[in-house]
Amino acid sequence: MSRALHLGPTVPDVSFVIPAFNEAETIVETLNRVSRKARRLVPQSEILVVDDGSADATLELVQSGHWEVPVRLLRLSRNFGKEQAIMAGLRHAAGKAVVILDADLQEPLRYVDTMLEKYREGYEIVYAVRAHRDDESWLKRRATAAFYRFLNIGSEVPMPAGARDFRLMDRKVVDALCALPESNRFMKGLYAWVGFRSLAIPVELQPRGGGSTKFGFRRLLKLGMTGLTAFTDWPLRMWTGIGMMLASLSILYGLFLASRTLFLGHDVPGWSTLAVAIFFFSGIQLMSIGVLGEYLARVFNEVKGRPGYLIADDVTIAAISKC
Ligand code: UDP
Ligand code: MG
Repeated sequence: MSRALHLGPTVPDVSFVIPAFNEAETIVETLNRVSRKARRLVPQSEILVVDDGSADATLELVQSGHWEVPVRLLRLSRNFGKEQAIMAGLRHAAGKAVVILDADLQEPLRYVDTMLEKYREGYEIVYAVRAHRDDESWLKRRATAAFYRFLNIGSEVPMPAGARDFRLMDRKVVDALCALPESNRFMKGLYAWVGFRSLAIPVELQPRGGGSTKFGFRRLLKLGMTGLTAFTDWPLRMWTGIGMMLASLSILYGLFLASRTLFLGHDVPGWSTLAVAIFFFSGIQLMSIGVLGEYLARVFNEVKGRPGYLIADDVTIAAISKC
């Protein structure tokens, strides 16, 4: 019996994953630059644009464009957030290596050359770290530093403070990330958690090419809580220690009061001590319940088992021929 020769589609050398949410001002220039770069760098490549529920013309601009390499456009059914958009891209990327890029022209593409060079030297993750944070406010820099300090307390793997999603990852790393079952994801933690031979390269970021940042205070706070609840357990456990310490102090204070009454006689004043103690301990109790709530909310979300994102459309735009 003769066996038909099956020639499958060629596997791209590199897939570029670009999450985009309301990036109409920059998406065309991003795709022009990335497709040009991709064509020059490797023989086979693909670009995956994940439209994360944009309400502007991002989707139409990608669909109606002419690009030098094939562009696959995944439209999520609504805005699910950057972490989910990245995961959607990673799950659909076919490349032997995957590069994640923002759609706002902040990350100069010359670093992709370095990433590829280091990848060929044997690194499995080559990631960008901000060379400096001069463009950020003093408050944001302090808040970020404090966040990473908390995040790294007692963690199995150190999570570098200035790391970006901008990175090149080997297929093995992408498969490992896709195999993780959690649906609420803090990608910067997961990249570090999966391990592999990693190298950081310092990058100088450019100002946004247009539009404005999608990460306001509330989004950052939400992402921060996801990161903390996913990668730490000390906020849950510390209450045992605090409780024990406060209980011991209360016993000592009780003994002190009892002996004072015994030796110096009956003492009526003490209302202020009582009031302060009640407020203090109520505060401590509410805080500890609040922390429990944060972790419980995460467990609740995971138990529901809902997917992190839904794909509404998946279309591929063939590359323009360059003959
Ligand atoms: N992004 C996304 N979904 C979101 C928010 C952001 O896909 O809900 C994309 C956004 O389009 C951009 C990238 O994530 O390509 C980084 O976003 P942004 O530039 O606003 O973040 P910043 O650089 O200010 O941290
Ligand atoms: Mg940006």
